Amino acid sequence: GEVSEPVAATQWDFIQNLRRWGFQANPSKRCKDLGQCLSYYRDTEERRATLPYDIDGMVYKVNRIDWQERLGQVSRAPRWAIAHKFPAEKAQTILNDIIIQVGRTGVLTPVAELEPVTVGGVVVSRATLHNQDYIAEKDIRKGDAVLIERAGDVIPKVLEVIKDDAQKRSPKYVFPDHCLECGCRAVRLAGEAAWRCTGGLVCPAQAVERLKHFVSRGAFDLEGLGAKNIEAFWKDGLIKTPADIFRLKDRESDIRRREGWGDKSADNLFQAIAQRRTISLERFIYALGVPQVGQATARLLAKHYSELDGWRAAMDKAGDPDSDAYADLINIDGIGESVAGDILAFIKEGHNREVLNDLNGLLTVEPFKALDTAHSPIAGKTVVFTGALAAMSRGEAKARAESLGARVAGSVSKKTDFVVAGADAGSKAKKAAELGVKVLEEKEWLALIGSGAAA
Ligand SMILES: [Zn+2]
Repeated sequence: GEVSEPVAATQWDFIQNLRRWGFQANPSKRCKDLGQCLSYYRDTEERRATLPYDIDGMVYKVNRIDWQERLGQVSRAPRWAIAHKFPAEKAQTILNDIIIQVGRTGVLTPVAELEPVTVGGVVVSRATLHNQDYIAEKDIRKGDAVLIERAGDVIPKVLEVIKDDAQKRSPKYVFPDHCLECGCRAVRLAGEAAWRCTGGLVCPAQAVERLKHFVSRGAFDLEGLGAKNIEAFWKDGLIKTPADIFRLKDRESDIRRREGWGDKSADNLFQAIAQRRTISLERFIYALGVPQVGQATARLLAKHYSELDGWRAAMDKAGDPDSDAYADLINIDGIGESVAGDILAFIKEGHNREVLNDLNGLLTVEPFKALDTAHSPIAGKTVVFTGALAAMSRGEAKARAESLGARVAGSVSKKTDFVVAGADAGSKAKKAAELGVKVLEEKEWLALIGSGAAA
């Protein structure tokens, strides 16, 4: 960092000064040549297990600071210092069981429970198995003898199975297709290595994070229920699911009696909750915390489907990938198959549906408020842009069309009203011609929205 004046002329004196001022410094040694460096490296490796903290190697530094400055650095790596890592430490043991941990985001991580074994002076009884593919690829099974590796302070991992042909093995490990914390369905989406629990709103492993998200600023914006209160209320059983927030009034006396809660803060909280009983559709969708559905995507969905019931009905239909509803969903510009997969997995999970029904009974979710586009000639129309426009960028054109009440889609379908073809328009213009969709040249388009903007 910054210093007001040079601390020392050499690295060695620098460290001695730090010690004198009361800072803790790692053990170090001045070496005169490479041989001394390597012998200190070997000494340290031997003492490694007795150190009160984990190290994964050591660093050699040029002692003279003026030389350090002359040597300088390449990108972020100094040319006057180099790391020398210790080899990872390995040990053999028995894998007793494979358990699944569910993380705060719902990811299912397989973990090996091991017969405790000492690796580099540390007793290890658990090691990561990464994911389903890792287990399958190495054919890791319960009861196997395994080689594990521990490098520095990272979580130890199972490297491989030590095969013993004489030993009868347990059956192949089958990765669970449901969450072991809440029983909800787990899904593994295309292109991902991890299985995830889809019960975001009910899963105890995810509940606290989801509830914090639910009350966050872009969602229900309940300032009186900050992260700390959510954690405390959850622990005490006051809030288990988002809908419980709107039933807190039933526990009013409990809350008023809580430590640190005066009448004023309780009044404020209940008032804020009462106000949030009416919420916009886009905030509501965002609050659900569906993976990949941030504020922008929630807004796209709200805009496209207008009402909560309409959205839910459409998502139910879209569960069939051959349906028009599915095509309609992935055709929303900004929502691809991956995002759609997360939304549909969320909607399909019965526990989430219960929470949605529960919330629906407690709240008024307002339909999406479109801008006043009564006089716009493209209000409610679906527009697809293709090719380069001369007058504005694609982003501007899109924003302009949306501000006039149009939907902008990414690809041409029979639901498309206009295709706006700029220079070098390719396959989309061709497809439009095939489907009989009206194709506008840029100047026709500008004339159309020009009159719309003037109205
Ligand atoms: Zn779960």
